[in-house]
This record gives sequence, C-alpha cells and structure tokens, in this order.
Amino acid sequence: MHPDMDSLGRHLASVSGLQVRRHEPLAEHTSWGVGGPADLYVIPYTGAALASAWRGLQTSGVDYFLLGCGTNLLVSDAGVRGVVVSLYPGLGGVEVVGQRLLAMAGATLGKLCHVAAEAGLSGLECLAGIPGTVGGALYMNAGANGTCVGDLVVAVTVLDERGKRVTLAREELEFGYRSSSFCERRWCVVEAAFGLVPSDARVVHQRIYEVLQRRCERQPLGARSAGSVFKRPPGDYAGRLLEAVGAKGLRVGGAQVSRKHANFILNTGAATAADIVALIRLARRRVYERFGIWLDTEVCLAGEGMSGVAAELGTRYVSATSEPLKLSGC
Ligand SMILES: Cc1cc2nc3c(=O)[nH]c(=O)nc-3n(C[C@H](O)[C@H](O)[C@H](O)COP(=O)(O)OP(=O)(O)OC[C@H]3O[C@@H](n4cnc5c(N)ncnc54)[C@H](O)[C@@H]3O)c2cc1C
Repeated sequence: MHPDMDSLGRHLASVSGLQVRRHEPLAEHTSWGVGGPADLYVIPYTGAALASAWRGLQTSGVDYFLLGCGTNLLVSDAGVRGVVVSLYPGLGGVEVVGQRLLAMAGATLGKLCHVAAEAGLSGLECLAGIPGTVGGALYMNAGANGTCVGDLVVAVTVLDERGKRVTLAREELEFGYRSSSFCERRWCVVEAAFGLVPSDARVVHQRIYEVLQRRCERQPLGARSAGSVFKRPPGDYAGRLLEAVGAKGLRVGGAQVSRKHANFILNTGAATAADIVALIRLARRRVYERFGIWLDTEVCLAGEGMSGVAAELGTRYVSATSEPLKLSGC
C-alpha cells in the first residue's frame, strides 16, 4: 500500500458528504462482475465533497481513477492499489432548463433519455440502452447508430488538474471515435449540458422503445458483459471479423464469446479478469492470423498488473499516474 494512503484515508474520511469504504470489491461495481478490491472506494454525494476529494487526490501522490457504472472497464483480479472515486450513484441529478438538459456526471444515460422524453425533448434517443453514466460516456464518446455523446453536448464542467472548476464549450473540446479530450487531460467531468429540440413526448418515448427493441434483438443483454470489446477497424466491423474466424462460443474458464454477437464477451458465472484477458488474446490472434489485423480493444483496463496488458491489447490503462495513451481518432 502507498505510504501516503493512510493520511489520505483520514483526510477523505473527514470530508462531509463523502462515503469512504476500504477494500471494496470492484466486481460489485463493474458490469462484467469481475475485479478485485480497491484499497479505498469513495462515493461523493455533493459537488463540494467531490471537489474536496479531488483536490486531496491531486496532492497525495496516491494513484486513483474515476468510475461511472463500470460498463466499459476490466479491473484485474488483484484489484486497485489506490483510490477509486465513484460518481455513481451519488451525483446523478438531471434538470430540464428550457431546451437544455443539465446532467451531473453520475447520471445514467437511461435517466437522461427518460427525463428528456418526459419533457418532450428530442435528440438523445439514439443513446437509449447504453448502460453508463454521463461522465463515462463523455470520456469514451459513447455512441450508437451514427451519433455520439460529443455530437449532443453543448458544454461540460470539469475539475481540472489543480482542482479548479472550469466550464468548457463544445468548441473547446475534441471528440473522436471512442475518445475525447477527457482521455488526454486528467479532468473529472462534473456535469454537462445537452442541447435538444422540442418534440412530442409520446414520439420520443416511442423512438426510445424502438432503439431498445433493436438492441434486444441484436445483443445478449441478459448476460454480464461490457458491450463491444473491440473497436471497429477502419472500413470493417470487429463483429464480422470475429464471426468469420469462428469466435462465437469460444471459451476460456468462465468467459465466453457470445453466440448472439461475436464482439461481446460474457461472464457466464464465475469468470475472472484473467479469463477475459485470455479470451481477448485468443480472439484477437485468430483475427490476426486470418486477416492480418490486430483489433484494438475498446474496453479500458484498470488495476494491478493491467498496465502492460493494456499496451498489448491496444487500449487505455486507467490510472492517474500512467501516461495518457494517445490513440488514433482522438
Ligand atoms: C450491454 C452493453 C452495451 C453497450 N453498448 C454501447 C454502445 O452502444 N455504444 C458505446 O459507445 N458503448 C457501449 N457500451 C459501453 C459503455 O456502456 C459505455 O462506454 C459507457 O459510456 C461507459 O460509461 P460508464 O459510466 O460505465 O463508464 P466506466 O466504465 O465506469 O468508465 C469508463 C471510463 O470513463 C472514465 N470516467 C468515468 N466517469 C468519469 C468522469 N466523471 N470524468 C472523467 N472520466 C470518467 C473512467 O475513468 C474510465 O476510463 C455498452 C456496454 C454494455 C455493458
């Protein structure tokens, strides 16, 4: 454990509006249901508590990372030597202001879509069914059906590296395919404003329903997964390549490639992070041997022992102390 962890733990425990847990199993906070314990797991319930924790972390020398719903994250079985700050569920408010939706970073996209529909505001329907938070979605520039979160946001408020609250207009931010300015800068997304257009509430609800129905038809939504494991390679689809090499049904331990969608890896019950990594390696190798393409992994990696694995699999290692990985498309 980092020598400064105890004093940081005492500081965090003294911050009002902050829940601090020790040795929290991250398997309970990731959609894959895998991941060992975090030394400290922190849930802020107010913006002031988040800001105080954030400032403490910047000067502590202790490693940390931000967590949303953990739906795009593979945490090692050894867990995290440092602090995990979870903005979900404590900071999940959503407010309608005219034709804008103001959402805190820990609000789920599901809640966002629902509030927008109830208010008769259209624009977010394409995001329905993406099971993450506003913070995680902005970091990843999550999207579907040709639209990404970065296309819809008009302003984002962050805590910067010095703990200062800064509001950035859309034009000051960059978004690429599953990447954003937030991948390059050590910022904590605090809240975001989305610009929407007036519509009939029933029409918006109907569109959301249709998007969700299409997802149910194509994706194994009843099982534990992290969505698409691999990014789209230029001019092709990871799912098509994986299917062509017979990846569907491939298994390592408790991890299995979905028979419904070849780009989904499922935890069939007792998978470990090591099983999932081994299956990712196996599937990538098959695609490389047949097509000469190394698929880049979309899912971010975190925790002890994952830094080198992330570099090998072409994805991000989520940690405050690692060098940000500049990825193509960012
Ligand atoms: C069934 C299923 C379907 C999916 N479908 C899609 C899809 O269609 N399209 C798509 O793009 N993705 C999809 N995903 C992946 C995932 O849901 C998205 O990437 C989502 O946006 C991740 O949000 P999260 O809150 O879970 O982030 P997490 O997984 O918790 O974190 C992801 C990254 O964001 C960072 N982060 C989290 N919060 C903040 C913050 N406040 N400030 C700065 N950084 C932060 C984390 O440190 C981490 O690096 C799917 C996942 C599942 C399980």
